[in-house]
Amino acid sequence: GDDGVPGRVRVAVRLRPRNAEELVADADFADCVELQPELKRLKLRKNNWDSDTYEFDEVLTEFASQKRVYEVVAKPVVESVLDGYNGTVMAYGQTGTGKTFTVGHLGDDDTSARGIMVRAMEDILADVSLESDSISVSYLQLYMESIQDLLDPANDNIAIVEDPKTGDVSLPGATLVEIRDRHSFVELLRLGEAHRIAANTKLNTESSRSHAILMVHVRRSVGGGEDTFSSEIDSSSHLVKPVKPLVRKSKLVLVDLAGSERVHKSGSEGHMLEEAKSINLSLSALGKCINALAENSAHVPVRDSKLTRLLKDSFGGTARTSLIITIGPSPRHRGETTSTILFGQRAM
Ligand code: ADP
Ligand code: MG
Repeated sequence: GDDGVPGRVRVAVRLRPRNAEELVADADFADCVELQPELKRLKLRKNNWDSDTYEFDEVLTEFASQKRVYEVVAKPVVESVLDGYNGTVMAYGQTGTGKTFTVGHLGDDDTSARGIMVRAMEDILADVSLESDSISVSYLQLYMESIQDLLDPANDNIAIVEDPKTGDVSLPGATLVEIRDRHSFVELLRLGEAHRIAANTKLNTESSRSHAILMVHVRRSVGGGEDTFSSEIDSSSHLVKPVKPLVRKSKLVLVDLAGSERVHKSGSEGHMLEEAKSINLSLSALGKCINALAENSAHVPVRDSKLTRLLKDSFGGTARTSLIITIGPSPRHRGETTSTILFGQRAM
């Protein structure tokens, strides 16, 4: 995607370091990818002598810090939300490659490990004035085409409402909590995550099979107040035009997507088959919308899934969107890694 052009998706790739198991099991093998961050290139090994090369907007190696990942992937989107535009940051990749680490890590024991959600809120809190502005959040899980409130899990069938005039998307049924400091926000994320685990245990499914969605609503007062009031005094006629304080609303959507691994339909039946179909549906609908944006197509097919309907007013148009695709180093997962890389490429 082009730098600085709203409506296009910026795509970064992040490689997870080898974990303890891979350090042993893959000791005799090279990683399945080789990164050239300064060239923003990734080489995907096909065999010992041949590889395919892909370019991304950013290439983040296994040594990239959480701070750097935030600055490269999310900060431009957060800044644009603070300027009054909507924005989305999404993490896509196979389960175990670092989506939740990247987006949702709370950094309890080590503040340098804080992920995008916490860092974004820190930047928003630092920029707004809590006297005149407000920040409120909803935290949701999207599973099998149902939206569940992670702050009130009994509420598990939340409707998406679209304003026919403005096209704005809202979830009037979702809990909205006002945020005034980082600590209470982190506690809210912790509560949401606990509810998510409990809900998925009850449903007998894994958290990796659902999308976790944080919506941050920012309301800022612009103009109004005394400055604007006095500037509106018409000195020739001595008439005073009353000026209503203007409120500017924008929203930041942060999405930890369901694992992208191919859920094999053959071999699964009943509930598992329905689950597989619904994950494939939402991720492929997302892929189609991202492709349409990349191709500057007039028609972005947002209606095909709840995920894309929910994101409708937060990507494309004047909104700013970043996609981070996460991959692991193991040559044993080259197939999944390849499909993740291709998903990212189609977005550009
Ligand atoms: P996903 O959400 O994609 O399933 P996780 O974020 O849960 O993956 O990551 C899987 C494991 O790898 C976790 O234990 C996580 O802490 C670790 N991990 C992921 N990315 C990194 C990284 N960049 N540096 C260190 N550890 C990581
Ligand atoms: Mg995860």
